[in-house]
Amino acid sequence: MMTVEGIRETLAASQKRSFPFLMTEFGLDLVVHEGVFPPEEFGGWRWATENFPPVQGLDVLEIGCGFGLPSLHLARAGARSVTSVDINARAVANTIENAVRNNISNLKAFESDVFSNVRPKRQFDIIFWNFPSQFAPDGFEYENDLERGIIDAGYTLLRRFLSEGPDWLTNDGRIIMGFGSYARDDILSEIVCQNRLEASILVKGAQQTRTATYRLVQIRKGHEQPRSRFSQSRALTERARGLYPAGVTRVSVGTVPIGKRNDGLSIYAHAGEGARIQDADGNSYVDFHSNFSTLIHGHRHPETVGAIASQLERGTCFGNPTVADIDLAQAICERIPAIERVRFLNSGTEAVMFAIKAARAMTNRTRLAKLEGAFHGTYDWAEVSARNCPENWGADFPNSNPPYSNTPPNVCEEVVVLPLNDTQRSRTIIEQHRSDLACIIVDVLPCAAGMIPLNPDYLAMLQDTARQHGILLISDEVVCFRLGYHGASAARGLEPDFVTLGKVVGGGLPIGVVGGRSATMEAFAPQDSAPVPQGGTFSANALTMAAGRAALTALTVSEIERIDELGNYLRQQAEESAAQAGIAITVQGAGSLFRFHSKQARPLSYREAYHDVAESEALRRLHAGMLERGFYVAAPFWGSISTSMTILHVDDFLDAFRACLREIPDLKRLDRRTAT
Ligand code: PMP
Repeated sequence: MMTVEGIRETLAASQKRSFPFLMTEFGLDLVVHEGVFPPEEFGGWRWATENFPPVQGLDVLEIGCGFGLPSLHLARAGARSVTSVDINARAVANTIENAVRNNISNLKAFESDVFSNVRPKRQFDIIFWNFPSQFAPDGFEYENDLERGIIDAGYTLLRRFLSEGPDWLTNDGRIIMGFGSYARDDILSEIVCQNRLEASILVKGAQQTRTATYRLVQIRKGHEQPRSRFSQSRALTERARGLYPAGVTRVSVGTVPIGKRNDGLSIYAHAGEGARIQDADGNSYVDFHSNFSTLIHGHRHPETVGAIASQLERGTCFGNPTVADIDLAQAICERIPAIERVRFLNSGTEAVMFAIKAARAMTNRTRLAKLEGAFHGTYDWAEVSARNCPENWGADFPNSNPPYSNTPPNVCEEVVVLPLNDTQRSRTIIEQHRSDLACIIVDVLPCAAGMIPLNPDYLAMLQDTARQHGILLISDEVVCFRLGYHGASAARGLEPDFVTLGKVVGGGLPIGVVGGRSATMEAFAPQDSAPVPQGGTFSANALTMAAGRAALTALTVSEIERIDELGNYLRQQAEESAAQAGIAITVQGAGSLFRFHSKQARPLSYREAYHDVAESEALRRLHAGMLERGFYVAAPFWGSISTSMTILHVDDFLDAFRACLREIPDLKRLDRRTAT
């Protein structure tokens, strides 16, 4: 630690240079004026700027902005807004001048003694302070404003900052402090505890010009655990047992093995808002489930709720068409190149069913090809071999297995099953059946088959072989539509004959869409004697149409890119953490979708992705562990990022995942001998 005299000498020396001086840092053209905290001598600002976590889409407040770094850099790096304050009026003017020099418009700077002039109730995702962590005893007399930039006498400002700061944070927000290793950590941790906060070191390292290490410390509001966590859900689970077979409304909404009794419990949802849901007991979760990836904008997305409310005033469903269906149809046709005409339905299952029926009608053939393990909803033919297991899957050429007890035998005879990502064998199978295949249905990221991205050459083979033999290609984008602004097939260069959609494009209300080229969609025309009559009491109901349009409009290119990046980050960090902990967990998926595997290496085929009993049990425990730590994912362990999320939600998810790795016993360990 430097003595006060030493600090004064350095500060005085720093002001002897000629002002103003210019410099270029982080691609910014900067000027520094006299009387402003001098950058070179106390260089924590550069280290903090370099090591700052991503801020895309976030509202950031910087206390003590000085000449403008890192504020200016964060504003340019994608923060939604940056508010920069300083007690020193010259520093504020200097930051504003630098913002203007660099054409930065999402930054506001004003004079403030910590929070004194920050509007009450304003909420920030990140509050940053490159803290004046040189310690001097209480009663120290400052000689000028520069000294306030480096010394907090008695750490009185630190006390004030940490008692007031949480009021300016969003629920998931965090304080980040630059805090040198020469600082008084003991006082910091005492203040953190007094304010019921939680602190951890985000990153530490050496600054270029100094021997002391420097840290970014992350501080959050502490979480209090509710007393009796699941009593309401437990009571509802009991009631449901007397009402539903197996006590559940759908096979996919199972029970979770949590609580001491471990006897199967459904977590009943009470409400949702943005990225969070609340259960019947008041427990709060970050919702990475989002009803099986449906709610791409999170819960109660304002624009979608607004569109539903305004339609609600005029009625929910009519025996007439409405402008709402025209608007959504147009949005879909404009967006997805393979879709020139659409029909609306009420579920992905129906969309797939009508695409298959239409393909049969247009080709005069009946059979279909699908991938082993891929789920396309619950239309008999689309369901074949969706749950193949080692006992029934056969050798190299997958068996067609019935989806339910006593499936009529000809259902399986009508379906040929392709081994996922096995180009050669799949081509052979398709060619064997080329004259009686009506269609090949493919999901480029089949979730139930392990969420394994299909290889580009595999997809090209499917498309080319289909074309060559007059077989129609159906791209099932009920889940994977979100992988590109123009949909998943367009993002992968496919030109399918039909596209099926669901989930996201209904804005949280039930929907299915079958679309395709005008010529193939003729299967549904003319109205009175179409080869495939398609109806549905609730198809194209006005409420769903209005919600879908609002959700689609809000799903912009930049939002897709943002959540895709968060997805990449989540997958990569989770895999790294598991590897470091020596646990065999890998993560598949693409863009904003992820699926965890209790596997040594990322599986590349359905059969590699198949989990034996022990592996399934490991995932179940992980799922329950995340739930108990406040994170909701779909079972066994997959989820998606919604646009209501930021890097903070993902970081919290990763922290909880790491805690699971440490605390859940008997997770499958990496076999270091065979690990690659
Ligand atoms: N296709 C795919 C790829 C799916 O994942 C699903 C269900 N998740 C469906 C179709 C069926 O959709 P729905 O549940 O709306 O019937």
